[in-house]
Amino acid sequence: MSEHLSVEPGTTSPGTPQGVPKVAVITTGGTIACTADANGHLLPTVSGRDLLAPVAARFGADAINFEIHELNRLDSSSITFADIDELVAAVHRVLEDPEVVGVVVTHGTDSMEESAIAVDTFHTDDRPVIFTGAQKPFDHPQADGPENLFEACLIASDASARGIGVLVVFGRAVIPARGCTKWHTTDELAFATNGPEEPERPDPLAPAPLDGVRVEIIPAYPGAGGELVQAALDSGAQGLVVEAMGSGNVGTALGAALGRALDAGVPVVISTRVPRGEVSGVYGGAGGGATLAAKGAIGSRYFRSGQSRVLLAVSLATGQHPATLF
Ligand code: ASP
Repeated sequence: MSEHLSVEPGTTSPGTPQGVPKVAVITTGGTIACTADANGHLLPTVSGRDLLAPVAARFGADAINFEIHELNRLDSSSITFADIDELVAAVHRVLEDPEVVGVVVTHGTDSMEESAIAVDTFHTDDRPVIFTGAQKPFDHPQADGPENLFEACLIASDASARGIGVLVVFGRAVIPARGCTKWHTTDELAFATNGPEEPERPDPLAPAPLDGVRVEIIPAYPGAGGELVQAALDSGAQGLVVEAMGSGNVGTALGAALGRALDAGVPVVISTRVPRGEVSGVYGGAGGGATLAAKGAIGSRYFRSGQSRVLLAVSLATGQHPATLF
């Protein structure tokens, strides 16, 4: 179970004049909020208020009225669908305030792409939601968090960011949530997109809980058997994402196991382990992408396996056909 802090009522900057745009900042943990413990190990310890203080000072009280909602202090590698449900609900809750012009979510980079795509898919509002974080911890002499948070708040308060869904603002880049992937473990430009610059977004869906939905990711590699598929189904998986090879192909044994899953009515999405390009079902043979597509597997297009898993879970949670979400 993840540590959970209760959502405090928003804390607004004191002494802010009326009529100043309000930005809600939801903090969830991640390296941006980390400090080193006695062993030098990083842990998210910094409060939302302390995280925002230097950034708010840069804007000044006349520019933006900040409202801080400290939701969690998590390493994002431990985030669950239950945590994502809470984040989606928190975003919707802060947007109930008509004075809020935009939302910033501070988040760990390890699973930022998953949370961002979930919030985007359920984002039924024109106002921007901006995810940001850091590669270096809060107490690092060259911490990148304050600059990232400053730019995220700037864009969240900008009218031109309306109506384009959720964005990741990080290392001077502005990247749509759809197709965003963490592409570097340490570089300050942590994210890249594998999708179009302005991806088409499906109609946003009303939030539905993802907690309890089981979608497993099955890796493909030369010689992979069908055992992981069987184990996933035996343990209750309702859908599968395959991290296939190349443009979306798997070997003979894995292809046969996926064929059996599809015959049993289990939705299967084919993604790829290749960093760039779209999935396309062009090859025949037992595990070829065309064969899997003919059996009903859905190509993930430009989405990689992490975001594909969230989109398939959204499909299972809402009853929306998965192909409409990719
Ligand atoms: N492990 C950290 C996290 O995802 C990494 C980061 O934030 O950069 O929470």
